[in-house]
Amino acid sequence: MRALITGGAGFIGSHLGELLLQEGHEVVALDNLSTGRLQNVEALQKNPRFTLVVGSILDERLVDKFVERCDVVFHLAAAVGVELIVQKPFESLTTNIRGSEIVLEAANRYRRPTLITSTSEIYGKNSHGPLKEDEDRILGSPLKSRWSYSTSKAVDEILAYTYWREKGLPTVIVRLFNTVGPRQTGTYGMVIPRFVQQALKGAELTVYGDGKQSRCFMHVQDAVQAIMKLIHLPKAAGQAFNLGSQEEVTIESLAQQVIAQTRSRSRISHIPYDEAYEEGFEDMQRRVPDTTKAREFVGFRPTRDLKSIIQDVIDYTQKTPDLISVK
Ligand code: UDP
Repeated sequence: MRALITGGAGFIGSHLGELLLQEGHEVVALDNLSTGRLQNVEALQKNPRFTLVVGSILDERLVDKFVERCDVVFHLAAAVGVELIVQKPFESLTTNIRGSEIVLEAANRYRRPTLITSTSEIYGKNSHGPLKEDEDRILGSPLKSRWSYSTSKAVDEILAYTYWREKGLPTVIVRLFNTVGPRQTGTYGMVIPRFVQQALKGAELTVYGDGKQSRCFMHVQDAVQAIMKLIHLPKAAGQAFNLGSQEEVTIESLAQQVIAQTRSRSRISHIPYDEAYEEGFEDMQRRVPDTTKAREFVGFRPTRDLKSIIQDVIDYTQKTPDLISVK
């Protein structure tokens, strides 16, 4: 098949492209290179079945042209990273809502099955885990960027879902919990690449808040394998799936593990949320997915533990020295 990946030069998009090529498919990656990077797809560009189109999902004619030429659409382009969202809330909203509208409109015009990636952020402050797909969303004020982002991704989900319900377009929603691996940049938040970069250059590891908040980190390979299976599964249409790990770790303990695995002499510093993000910033204490549904539908089971995920990021960061020089 010929697949269109929006956000195809991004962290997750580039790994998905690689997997599609390995399985013999053709890939068109559409990316405006805002958070995506040419470097991510350098190796893929050597494959004649891969095409990179530099452009925006807000460009309706461009999106129309490439959706028509492809058999399936993976819509991954989005504003990502808590830091970016807090800094540029307007741009984040437009990219997510208007962008998804344009992609889904085109997908419906040519009746192309579409998978959209959403996020665990849609559950908001609901911190009692493990969270199932039909769990309540608990949000703060829409004037806080984190909650407006959560809302924008929920609108994307509703759009995809209603295209299925009312127009019969096969759409699948994947809610990614914290996903990590090579090529993820620490520039927009993303704690593991940041800690690894800090540890490798001997800088302090910046733990926000008291460090008791916890997360579960999934390797990007586990995510893209599941995404591939879901697009091929007819009964997945009209459904949402959590994808994530259940190996829970506090951020303080994560910092200690990164220091140990890099054999760094760095210390840990605690930074109040107000200073790290913006005044009144709200974090979630805990975020653990229930992934029973993905296991039942496509046999999803994460294969990589936290230690090997951290190691992978260390190896990648050491091979990419310009990352270590980032602030
Ligand atoms: N975090 C941190 N130091 C950093 C970056 C992030 O302590 O330099 C914290 C962040 O406040 C959150 C957790 O690490 O509690 C995970 O952050 P990330 O941005 O990776 O993902 P999130 O789960 O917030 O979407």
